Amino acid sequence: MATCEVCGNDYDKSFEVIQDGKSHVFDSFECAIHAIAPVCDHRGCKIVGHGLEAGEQFFCCAHCAKHSGVPELKDRASHTRA
Ligand SMILES: [Zn+2]
Ligand SMILES: [Zn+2]
Repeated sequence: MATCEVCGNDYDKSFEVIQDGKSHVFDSFECAIHAIAPVCDHRGCKIVGHGLEAGEQFFCCAHCAKHSGVPELKDRASHTRA
């Protein structure tokens, strides 16, 4: 049993997420997203999917990257199997 670091809920199905070597405990994905999901540089929306990176910038989708002047980005997520 662990307490969610966002809402303080003491829940027996809470889970741990390791980000940059740091441990976080949440009771729900909603709280996890609220606390540690990266934020889109264009609209400030939470990046819940794979997202896109351009240098120091993060975007939720190619559309946002394009609107922020980064036109060449394509979704990094590769669904081809090696
Ligand atoms: Zn919570
Ligand atoms: Zn966005």
